[in-house]
Amino acid sequence: MSIQHHLSDDILLDYAAGGLAEGWSLAAATHIALCPVCRARAAALDAIGGAALEDLTPAPISDDALDACLRLLDAMEADPALSAAPAGPGLLPTPLRAFVGGDVDVVAWRRVGGGVRQAPLGVRGGAKARLLYIPAGVAVPEHGHGGLEMTVVLTGSFLDKADVFAAGDIQVCDGAVDHQPISGDDGPCICLAVTDAPLRFRRLVPRIAQRIAGL
Ligand SMILES: [Zn+2]
Repeated sequence: MSIQHHLSDDILLDYAAGGLAEGWSLAAATHIALCPVCRARAAALDAIGGAALEDLTPAPISDDALDACLRLLDAMEADPALSAAPAGPGLLPTPLRAFVGGDVDVVAWRRVGGGVRQAPLGVRGGAKARLLYIPAGVAVPEHGHGGLEMTVVLTGSFLDKADVFAAGDIQVCDGAVDHQPISGDDGPCICLAVTDAPLRFRRLVPRIAQRIAGL
């Protein structure tokens, strides 16, 4: 698994501080379970947070301490000791298994149309999380976002403009993005998608399907 698309510093910091709503946290945890680089970054943040708690003597820090810390994290190579595949056997990494109640073979898929299937996951908070199954070579109808969308690829791949997202990669799209991802030819793409607002489809037929499927 050669992961090219990682968590941003901001999202990773919020995740480490426990500041993300459950859906976003699930997306971050799923990527971290699959990605040794972000796992090492998250472990470093935990260590820094732990050290800060142990040193309760107030001490002045420079204004650029956070930037210096982030630069340090950027410079870190993945720690081989942390790369020991905590994702476990099967397709779904540990954070997702708790929501699904097992691996991908127990997922209760619902048909959306065009061979696409989805399985909503019961997360609390403002965001909605679902697993998506997209057959090989299928274009998701062109859409924009009313809010944020995080997608973690679990198997297969998708192409979005010039970017390829493969297993383990995370894509974060905000309200400014209009796109039409296409699943790769290398087999079905199964991914975790988290959104905090309904997708805005450009054409009528997907909009009707959206009403039925609750996307
Ligand atoms: Zn990563």
